[in-house]
Amino acid sequence: MNERLCLRCRLSFKEPRWEFSGGAWRAESTHHETVESLQASLISGCPLCIALQSIVPPEQMVDCSNDRLQEFTSYASLCIFGNSNSVAQSRDVSATFWIPGKRGFVVPGRRSLNFQPHFSGKQDALRKITPLDDTTPAHTSVRWAAPVREWVTECVESHTECGPLVSSPFRYPTRLLQVGDLSSPTVQLLETTKGDADMVGPYNTLSYRWGNALPIRLLTTNIDNFRREIAVSLLPKTLADAIVVTRTMGVPYLWIDALCIIQDSTFDWEREASAMAEVYGHSYCNLAASHNHDSTGGLAPRLQGSLGRPFSVRITCPLGMEPPYLDTWLAEQEFKANRVDAAPLNSRGWVVQERALAQRTVHFTYDQPLFECRTLFDPSYGGPGRGNPAQRLPKVPARSDVETGAILNHYWPRILYYYTQRQLTQPSDRSRAIIGIARLVHERLGNSQYLAGLWSTRLLRQLLWISSQGCHPVTYCGPSWSWIGLQMGLIYYEETGDDSLDRFDTQVLGWKITTTDGSEFGSVTSASLHLKSPLHPLKVLLPADAGDFPRFCFDPDAIFDNELAQVSNSSCFIYWDLEDDPRMRHDDKMPHVFAAPIIETRRGGNGNHFELRGLVLLPIDGQVDVYCRVGMFGASGSRTDQHMGKIFRGKDKIITLT
Ligand SMILES: [Zn+2]
Ligand SMILES: [Zn+2]
Repeated sequence: MNERLCLRCRLSFKEPRWEFSGGAWRAESTHHETVESLQASLISGCPLCIALQSIVPPEQMVDCSNDRLQEFTSYASLCIFGNSNSVAQSRDVSATFWIPGKRGFVVPGRRSLNFQPHFSGKQDALRKITPLDDTTPAHTSVRWAAPVREWVTECVESHTECGPLVSSPFRYPTRLLQVGDLSSPTVQLLETTKGDADMVGPYNTLSYRWGNALPIRLLTTNIDNFRREIAVSLLPKTLADAIVVTRTMGVPYLWIDALCIIQDSTFDWEREASAMAEVYGHSYCNLAASHNHDSTGGLAPRLQGSLGRPFSVRITCPLGMEPPYLDTWLAEQEFKANRVDAAPLNSRGWVVQERALAQRTVHFTYDQPLFECRTLFDPSYGGPGRGNPAQRLPKVPARSDVETGAILNHYWPRILYYYTQRQLTQPSDRSRAIIGIARLVHERLGNSQYLAGLWSTRLLRQLLWISSQGCHPVTYCGPSWSWIGLQMGLIYYEETGDDSLDRFDTQVLGWKITTTDGSEFGSVTSASLHLKSPLHPLKVLLPADAGDFPRFCFDPDAIFDNELAQVSNSSCFIYWDLEDDPRMRHDDKMPHVFAAPIIETRRGGNGNHFELRGLVLLPIDGQVDVYCRVGMFGASGSRTDQHMGKIFRGKDKIITLT
């Protein structure tokens, strides 16, 4: 125990200043106090200090005096916490190491790294972290390609759960690069429709960021040259590295968007973009240049990675506690999220489906490549429990797992939440960069129709999305009742409980949607939804009356008593769709908005507690019974049927949402 740790780290575990606060035993300890002492520990291979280095890159360390330290308020912290459930009394243990100390390191901005302890005997659960061992030298792509080849071979040969997610039969993409052998200075562009019969073997794909501009692209003017040869030395480093890795893996073909889609042909681009699900879905291995902001960085890591495996430490318990110490295995808590989901590549919207649809992806991260396939899909990598699962890509439902509820209540909301956090350059890409996943969900759902970003199955529930920081696109992207009608903004749904408690106040009567290509997955040009719903005017409370959160009450002129008005004041809230909606300005008169209740849920022994969710609608000027959605409302409390009935009874209307 502790033998791999440096003296400073060992002392931290041995003599922390333990305190009991907030229901947990906590310790804080100052770590290395000088850069020299930290560097000595890095050389000796202390795993904790190496973790530290990953949050305090060497070039950002400034060894400074006490006086200068006053100028800086930032710090990095390393936190270890967990629940010691291996002993009779369960208790939380948390230790924080502060940097800087008396003479410390200055870190721009606050950063912290968390470790999750696993108590004795649980280390097997962490074996999935299998990057290179500490002895792997040299940051060259050839070196890194060898283990990649092993991981992929193991997946292909022995993972029964792995295989293509898309059901379409294997077909080569329209164009591919023939990579040739390791010593060749060139690659060739192949058009698969012409030479299909001679082609044998799989192809890889590359996920990467273009950056400002790619120096070399496939154009109508250079396609003939590319068919003859493309000099690898002319390619940006990431593209050249992908060729080397593909050759080393023994894979004959590689697909790279810039070289396989004609960049100055709208026709070609449209056709190929719509085939993206198949291109990535049938890729043998998707190579993801995770840590790069553009195409010049290459695939090799910037830092030596050796934190892959958990390491054991013995934590001394506070005086008088039994047992006197705990043997734990420590692993970086958000090991994979820190390297993959937080990587520059994965901040891009288009990359979500490239990764989600690929059978297997190798993420080339800042300090090591990490392998992901369906069998080894464990986004937490480093410990369950804490951390934020919403920050991680959800796992695509398997073909055998076609339970509608699981897909619509869990997978689709989670992928939307993950996807809408990512950036897109064009507003219209918001509805397009997820079509590959939508097609897959369509396959899984069977008979459901894709309606401008929502599904026809359980449509009412899906209308209740919530937007955060949404804004209006300059040009029409979709209807107000769908999230695709907004530019930017995070989209999420409230976690739903047991569906069987739901009662629907509204009926879907039909819809009319037109798209550019006539298919349900084409770009939407117009969309309307017809509902039969009770409508009730809402009185929106001005911010001064309502506090920080936008609230409302059902119109006081309506038939309900004062007591109920108060109940609704305290428990009724609105999520506006737009961050700053000019139609809802509070300074002058509030426009008349209406509540259309969608779902009512009753809980509690006698069903006395109700939750009501619905849409906030704004009538469209000059049109009869036509509304647009401006928000979602929620109301909850304990009222009887009778009371709710009073508000909405007899108010059913047939309305159109656009
Ligand atoms: Zn150390
Ligand atoms: Zn696998």
